[in-house]
Amino acid sequence: MTSNIGVMREVQGLKDIDVTGKRVLIRVDFNVPMDSHNNISDDRRIRMALPTINYCIDHNACSITLVTHFGRPKNGYEEEYSLKHIVKRLERLLHRRVEFIDNFETSRDEIATCSLERVFLLENIRFHDGEKKNSKELSEKLSSICDIYVNDAFGTSHREHASTYGITEFVDTKVAGFLMLKEIEAFGKALEEPIRPIALVVGGAKISTKITLLKSVLDKIDKLIIGGAMSNTFLKALGYDMQNSLYEDSFIDTALDIMKQAREKGVKLYLPVDLVTTNNLDNPIDIQIVPAQDILDEFMAVDIGPATVKLFSEAIGLSNTIIWNGPMGIYEVDKFSRGTNKIANAIADTYAYTIVGGGDTADAVEKAREVENFSFISTGGGASLELLEGKILPGFARLDRKEENN
Ligand code: ADP
Ligand code: MG
Repeated sequence: MTSNIGVMREVQGLKDIDVTGKRVLIRVDFNVPMDSHNNISDDRRIRMALPTINYCIDHNACSITLVTHFGRPKNGYEEEYSLKHIVKRLERLLHRRVEFIDNFETSRDEIATCSLERVFLLENIRFHDGEKKNSKELSEKLSSICDIYVNDAFGTSHREHASTYGITEFVDTKVAGFLMLKEIEAFGKALEEPIRPIALVVGGAKISTKITLLKSVLDKIDKLIIGGAMSNTFLKALGYDMQNSLYEDSFIDTALDIMKQAREKGVKLYLPVDLVTTNNLDNPIDIQIVPAQDILDEFMAVDIGPATVKLFSEAIGLSNTIIWNGPMGIYEVDKFSRGTNKIANAIADTYAYTIVGGGDTADAVEKAREVENFSFISTGGGASLELLEGKILPGFARLDRKEENN
C-alpha cells in the first residue's frame, strides 16, 4: 500500500511545467511570528518560499502574485494583521520591488494583465470571510488572476481554505512549490521507515486544534512527551489544581482518553513533574518552581521546571526519531524560555533524526541557536501533526499528479 507520504510525493512540481509567459499565483505561508513592536522575529517562512518565487522570476513568468494569510483576524481588516508589515522584508530578501495590493478585486485588471517580472503581494487573504469558509466565489475570483496555481504553503496545507484548496477547482494547471516537496521528503524520512523509538514532543498553546490529533498519532509513536500549556490540560485531568494556568476545560475528557489509550497501546507518556509559576505575567517578580501538584493560589504555570527538563531530556536521549511541535513555556519572555531552550538543546544533542515544526517552535530553536543541529526545520506545526496521523493533506490532494502526464 502506498503511504500518504507516497501519494503526496507524486504531485507535480514547478519543474514539471513551463511557467514562461504565464501568470502565476503562488500560495505562500508568510504567517511569521511578530514581537509586540510588529517586528518579524523569525522570517524563516519567507526565506523558505524564495526558491519557488525566484524560479518563477528566472523562468520568465509574466507576473507573480503571492497570496498568504497572516495571524488570526476575526472580522475583516485589522491593522495588526496587515501584510504591509511584511512587504519590506520580502523586498529585502527578494532583492526586488514588490507591489502591495490592498484589494485584489479592484486591482484585478492590473494583476491579470501580463506584465513581465512584476511581483504582487495581496493583502491578508483571511480578511476575506470566504477564505476559511473555502468559498467558491473567492476561489473563483482568485483563479481569475492566474494561469497557473502553485501551492507552497506547507504550514497551511492541512486546511481546506479557498486559497489552499478551493481554488484548485478553477485552475487548469496546479502544482506544488519547492518547499512543499522538500517538507514531504523530510517527513518521508521520519515516517516511512522510521528508526524507532519515535518520540513526539508537543507543547504550545493551540490546545483545541492539536489535542485531538494526539489521539490519532498514538498508533504511530512510542513516546509522547507533553509540556507547555498543552500539558496543563492533562495535569488538570489528573485532578491537579492548575490555578490560573492556561488550560481547556472542555478537553479534559479528551486528555483522559489519550492517557488511557496511551496505556493500552504501550505508548510511554511523559508529563511535567514540576513547573515554573508566577502570579503576574506582566510583571513577573514572584516566580516559584513547584511540583506540578503544588501550584500556589493565583499562580500560573509558565514553563516546565528543572526536574521536568531532566526527565524529558532522558526520554528524548533514548529516542531515534524525534518530532517536536510546541514550546514548553511562554518562551517569548526570557525568564520563561529556559525549559524550551533546554529541550531544544536536548533534542539537538541526540544522534536521532530530528524534525521541529511550527512557527513559534522554529523561532524558539533559532533563539536557542540550535538550528544547525536539527535534521530538519519544518514550516508546519499543525500540518506536521496531521502528516504524522497519516492524512493526505488537502493542500496536496487536488494538485496535478505526475502519472496523469505520462
Ligand atoms: P507553534 O507556533 O510552534 O505551532 P503554538 O502556536 O501552538 O506553537 O504555541 C506557541 C505559544 O504557546 C507561544 O506563544 C507560547 O507563549 C505559548 N505557551 C507555551 N506554554 C504556555 C503556557 N504554559 N501558558 C501560556 N502560554 C504558553
Ligand atoms: Mg504559533
